[in-house]
Amino acid sequence: MGKIFVYAEVVDGAVADHSLELVGRARELGDQHGFTVGALLLGYGVRGLAEELVQRGADEVHVVDSEALSRYNLLLYAQAAAEVVGAENPDILLFPASITGRELAPRVAVKLGTGITADCTAIEIGEYLDPITGVRHEKVLYQIRPTFGGTIMAAIVTPNHRPQIATVRPGVYPVPPRDTSRTGRVREWSPDLGGRAAELIEVLEVRRERRGVDLRSARIIVSGGRGAGPEGFKLIRRLAELLGGEVGASRAAVDAGWISYDHQVGLSGQTVKPDIYIAVGISGAIQHVVGMKDSKVIIAINKDPEAPIFRIADYGIVGDLFVVLPKLIERLEKQRR
Ligand SMILES: Cc1cc2nc3c(=O)[nH]c(=O)nc-3n(C[C@H](O)[C@H](O)[C@H](O)COP(=O)(O)OP(=O)(O)OC[C@H]3O[C@@H](n4cnc5c(N)ncnc54)[C@H](O)[C@@H]3O)c2cc1C
Repeated sequence: MGKIFVYAEVVDGAVADHSLELVGRARELGDQHGFTVGALLLGYGVRGLAEELVQRGADEVHVVDSEALSRYNLLLYAQAAAEVVGAENPDILLFPASITGRELAPRVAVKLGTGITADCTAIEIGEYLDPITGVRHEKVLYQIRPTFGGTIMAAIVTPNHRPQIATVRPGVYPVPPRDTSRTGRVREWSPDLGGRAAELIEVLEVRRERRGVDLRSARIIVSGGRGAGPEGFKLIRRLAELLGGEVGASRAAVDAGWISYDHQVGLSGQTVKPDIYIAVGISGAIQHVVGMKDSKVIIAINKDPEAPIFRIADYGIVGDLFVVLPKLIERLEKQRR
């Protein structure tokens, strides 16, 4: 049986949701294609988190619990990860495309002499027929991500090297529910964390800044684009407030300085999946759409009936947002009274 490993990133003493999402996806793929799921848990005082990883879908948790890992240090984490992964030789190794995952995964890939696909928006397992050698490879990881500025989706394979390493965007898969009846094996490792790696970086202080807006867990997002302008954003903010939602934006709106980057949805912003996504004055460029297309209900408000956003919208309002939004706001305000 093959193995899929997932890097379990620990943030503020808990396994981060973006790693749990990957444990859930690995479990699905493992059940479909016959792989076991292993979690790689690194840190200090983290042993106790292994149980949750099993409950979320891991069969095995590989723990390196060492004081040397009490603060995130790229070189030491890469050393610990590479030692465990090198010994276990999984077929697939997944990292969240978080800041830490994006930094750590390529280091581990270099140490293991394999490739990496960064920032995937989907992962699948399938057969691959090499068009050059004619060799058929079974159970290959398809690492799917937008490329050429988001104009095409590429499915990248690494058929000849193991592990196949990918970082996967936070938010594209759901966090699996806990199953308290699941049991699994916990294996402790004590890799050598001394030597050059320990000397090269000394972490003196860690400062954490919270994001101003949490778009990924928002149930309702009202997003504005270039069509809105600064005045339109006042209406968008009011509508979001009345609906109990968050404000999103296209890159054009962020670039214009009407709203900060942490509100940007899309290829170079966040991937979101709210219950309701209202796109106001947004044309529906592919780079925007990849970040919101999996929303449950998409409502588009645009004065151009040919705008591409209407192709993916469940409901479309063709009209001037400066006419449509005040009416919606008025109706909602009346309901509140
Ligand atoms: C590598 C790369 C990464 C990118 N990443 C992202 C990303 O993460 N997110 C993102 O959004 N974009 C991204 N882009 C940019 C993307 O290609 C588009 O340029 C951008 O999404 C356009 O934003 P927009 O829809 O707000 O503006 P426009 O395309 O200019 O659309 C404005 C829309 O507003 C409508 N409108 C105008 N006035 C009104 C009105 N009064 N009432 C109603 N409708 C009105 C117009 O009909 C039009 O459809 C990226 C591009 C590249 C190359």
